[in-house]
Amino acid sequence: MPTTKDQRPTAKHKSRSSKPLFRIGYGWDSHEFRPGIPLRIGGVTLPHPQGLGGHSDGDVLLHALTDALLGGVAAPDIGSLFPPSDPQWKGAASVVFLREAVQRVRMAGYALANVDSTLILAAPKIGPHAAAIRENVAKLLGISANCVGLKAKTPEGMGTDNAAIAHAVVLLERKGS
Ligand SMILES: [Zn+2]
Repeated sequence: MPTTKDQRPTAKHKSRSSKPLFRIGYGWDSHEFRPGIPLRIGGVTLPHPQGLGGHSDGDVLLHALTDALLGGVAAPDIGSLFPPSDPQWKGAASVVFLREAVQRVRMAGYALANVDSTLILAAPKIGPHAAAIRENVAKLLGISANCVGLKAKTPEGMGTDNAAIAHAVVLLERKGS
């Protein structure tokens, strides 16, 4: 059986151990609903009387995705790169954060394979908007929509009806492998 490059127990192989073929990243975020501001999820504005307050435009899904991408390459998290205390990020489009994370993944020598995510919120219903959100996230990440998973659940028994929560995982693949 021929030995492939990666199986050879050489010094080169050893140095590669810090750059594995695959890496996963995980991110989590939550924001509180506030009346009178637009609701942005995955870069899409949804019709709802309340939006998500807090850091930037409050896009909970893009924040979780940003942290997943950053975590995958062991980069500093979103709050360290874009401190909520810095006025320049107040009301900022979260796409800016996501782009920085995508860039850091590229610079680390990785490409994004796929994304999976879960939203937890009492309202609005995500189903009618899921396709638009998946398509927009795919476009932002430069992958196809069938590589973007999105589930939505209601917060049964959690007592978080006034918040939106997002979890996201990403799979990164070493480029040129
Ligand atoms: Zn956030």
